Amino acid sequence: MLPSFIPVSSPLITAKDLEMVTQALSDGWISGEGPYIDLFENKMAEICDRKFAISVSNGTDALDLVFQGLNFEPGDEIILPSFTIISCLSQILRMGLVPVFVDADPVTWNMDVQQVEALISNKTRAILAVHIYGLAVDMDALSQIAGKHGIPIIEDAAEAHGLTFQGKMCGSFGLASTFSFYANKNITTGEGGMVLTDDEELANKLRSLKNLSHREGSRFVHDEIGWNMRISSLQAALGVSQLDRIHEIVARRREIAGIYSEHLDGLNGITIQPRYMQGAENAYWVYGLLLDESSEISVGQVQQRLQEKNIGTRPFFYPLHKQPVLTKYGFSSHNRLPVSELLGSNGFYIPNALSLENSQIEYIANSLKEVLRNK
Ligand SMILES: *Cc1c(COP(=O)(O)O)cnc(C)c1O
Repeated sequence: MLPSFIPVSSPLITAKDLEMVTQALSDGWISGEGPYIDLFENKMAEICDRKFAISVSNGTDALDLVFQGLNFEPGDEIILPSFTIISCLSQILRMGLVPVFVDADPVTWNMDVQQVEALISNKTRAILAVHIYGLAVDMDALSQIAGKHGIPIIEDAAEAHGLTFQGKMCGSFGLASTFSFYANKNITTGEGGMVLTDDEELANKLRSLKNLSHREGSRFVHDEIGWNMRISSLQAALGVSQLDRIHEIVARRREIAGIYSEHLDGLNGITIQPRYMQGAENAYWVYGLLLDESSEISVGQVQQRLQEKNIGTRPFFYPLHKQPVLTKYGFSSHNRLPVSELLGSNGFYIPNALSLENSQIEYIANSLKEVLRNK
């Protein structure tokens, strides 16, 4: 008999999480201001060793807000990985900036830092670093290149809660860092996001922009057009409670990955993101697999066969440099970024929810082996 369906992701909400949210409700703090918001922001700033934290509605807003807050001009170039989520590109296009895509490293799946310097021009205004699937970008090498050219780094740490690089928290690098607390992220508030920075002027600007740009002292007079990107106190309360378990959560993700690796390491036909790189241990936001280019079976077929065994999966990101929307903004994409394209066509991830039992992990690993063997 088949076990019941195992979704690729599902949140783990504890009794303490519930208690905290209930507390916020019974205290009457339900809006986007108040003690729960302050607590959540302060806790994130403390964990990530940052001076300022600005909570927002989601991780996409966090990126939009940072881009809006930095005084970029149309035509300015932003260097970013192709292999990432659309959220990294959307505000770049809306503001009339020029995306300059970097291919991925075939081993880590992160942006290939070695390729960055050649892409820097006199119009480059920022480099967006995105830690992919829980493994860190080489921030040492990237910071050196950026520093040499005086270009700020924006760090998207949405997939990197609790991850360190050379002993430093991800979320602490560069001019500003962004997080998402979406339902499948390592720390979740259902929907939610955060910007972190040590730059006080930028922090004040973002804080104003995310909350309708009220003028200080004359609330309903506006010198700028802002947004309402506020997160609610209920979400912040959940976040505070989740952050208490951040080390536990990452430890369990690594434990799950360890069980998978026992079964899947060295298996013919697939590559797995490494557990270790110089200076970082994978925090395994997801457990991703890459089918060999020569594979006779497609990702779609593997997904279908796992689905028949009641196992949910998800394909990898479709590379940004191939997104059809680029042409609407006047960009044609003739350049090939082979690694990003391979990841986009041959990658998928399997369930690694915190709520999974070890027996379920074993079942998934064995099912996958069977599917790959019978191709
Ligand atoms: C999830 C994610 C986002 C977007 O976050 P949302 O909260 O879903 O808007 C941005 N960047 C990366 C790298 C992500 O993984």
